[in-house]
Amino acid sequence: MSGCIFCRIIGGDIPSDTIYENETVKVFKDISPVAPVHLIIVPKIHIDSIESLNEQNAGVVADCMLAAKKAAEISGIDKSGYRVISNVGEDAGQSVEHLHFHLVGGIPMGERIL
Ligand code: AMP
Ligand code: ZN
Repeated sequence: MSGCIFCRIIGGDIPSDTIYENETVKVFKDISPVAPVHLIIVPKIHIDSIESLNEQNAGVVADCMLAAKKAAEISGIDKSGYRVISNVGEDAGQSVEHLHFHLVGGIPMGERIL
């Protein structure tokens, strides 16, 4: 099994507060939330970041966005609004090298929150 922390969460090795899951995507609560709703959306296959997407694997991004929509609805922020962010590389402060999208909401966010 990979040492990647999100792969270990997906594999059930490390517990997570999962709020939605399907065949290709898992959505769980961020361990250190920056907003009332702060979720992490991950594809179940390991991809390092947006930089590692290609024509073969990019379909997971659509899966993640559909999961974002579902998770926003489950969390009750689909009407009030939310933001979806993916950090890529050093300058963006990417700390986990497994492609993921932050879904944040539940509070007016202004220009920046992450
Ligand atoms: P990033 O900085 O964009 O790579 O985001 C990584 C995010 O993963 C951070 O917001 C962390 O709080 C979150 N995170 C790290 N470990 C865990 C974990 N075990 N469960 C939930 N979220 C985590
Ligand atoms: Zn991984």
